[in-house]
Amino acid sequence: MEDSLLIPEKKKETDKNFPLINELTNMEHEQLVFCSRPEVGLKAIIAIHDTTLGPALGGVRMWNYGSENEAIKDVLRLARGMTYKSAISGLNLGGGKGVIIGDSAKDKTEPLFRAFGRYVDGLAGRYITAEDVGMTEKEMEWIFSETKYVAGIPKTLGGSGDPSPVTAYGVYMGMKASAKKAYGSDSLEDKRIGIQGAGSVASHLARYLKKENAKIFVTDIFEKKAIKVANETGAKVINPDQIYSLDMDIFSPCALGGVVNDDTINHLTCGIIAGGANNILDNEKKHGEMLRERNILYAPDYVINAGGLINVSSELEGYNEQRAMEKTARIYDTTIDIFDYADRHGITPNDASNILAEHRIRNVGRVSTIYSSKSQLSNREGEIYYKNRC
Ligand code: NAD
Repeated sequence: MEDSLLIPEKKKETDKNFPLINELTNMEHEQLVFCSRPEVGLKAIIAIHDTTLGPALGGVRMWNYGSENEAIKDVLRLARGMTYKSAISGLNLGGGKGVIIGDSAKDKTEPLFRAFGRYVDGLAGRYITAEDVGMTEKEMEWIFSETKYVAGIPKTLGGSGDPSPVTAYGVYMGMKASAKKAYGSDSLEDKRIGIQGAGSVASHLARYLKKENAKIFVTDIFEKKAIKVANETGAKVINPDQIYSLDMDIFSPCALGGVVNDDTINHLTCGIIAGGANNILDNEKKHGEMLRERNILYAPDYVINAGGLINVSSELEGYNEQRAMEKTARIYDTTIDIFDYADRHGITPNDASNILAEHRIRNVGRVSTIYSSKSQLSNREGEIYYKNRC
């Protein structure tokens, strides 16, 4: 065969005249979609990072971004994160995300969200949207009235409803796996566990921990919420600023991201960090390494808080709560595999998890080059579901 007939290897080219395309190339995104409908005030961006494993699923958030660049950066970063989260969770889904630029307190209208739904529909299932920051069930229903490519819809509409109980179950499983690794037993009995936040995920998590007779400490910037959890689970309420220096075995951040940072890390004396919040490490590389040096076992957040995603994705096969919980229970084994891989290669659990996710994408991607009598798409969970839904 002549050399000129061969398709050259994919090359990352950088061209300063095309910064946006460069950004896509560097972060390996497939597609970026700009949606504009000024008549209804819609300014939105959808990013599809990778669809090797299946349709790109990821929530849409409404946020008052300071600039277009900020919105683009955010949607690219978040879509990429979804690829890794789905891949490590063993789901047949790729990664995507949507952002609607606007003030969620005053810019919400039915036409705006229906217009967004039409753009999602135009992607014909390459992107499946769901609820994220700044969105509620009401807006998701408006989107759903224009497209079937929506997951995480209310139970009343045949969906899976609130994902936080399943997220909490996954965090609990990841925490038990961490205890097994750090202490040789996955029992949480008498372990001193500090939960930051007393919201949806935290309150469900506290119930699991109570059943195991753990010694629970809880804090929230709204003390009332912490007291409510304490009344139900026997937890001790502490002040928000006491949590980092608390004498505890396990720290479980379930409020906000970036809480393990230059200021807090030296106060931590726990053996394990396992929480539900996203992006717990302020700087994944730096603080991941610092925790490793301090012998604090870090359960990667996107692995152990994937129960919500697993729950939402179960909708795509026709929702079955028990099946969603069973799939979420596998977070235990996944977390152990990640710790073992990290140990074998002398790297942090976060790095190990990223590598294992990339392995899965690459290796499963190779399978799709084998001819199958079913079309490639019909093998995917999303397509099966949407055929049933039509
Ligand atoms: P939530 O809003 O119900 O709870 C968060 C709680 O944290 C609130 O009660 C808030 O008052 C409290 N809080 C905020 N700042 C605090 C601080 N500095 N100290 C102590 N408490 C503080 O949210 P949620 O649904 O429980 O989610 C918790 C975290 O888990 C978020 O980071 C979210 O992104 C992440 N997460 C949630 C899900 C899910 O299914 N809900 C899935 C994946 C990840």
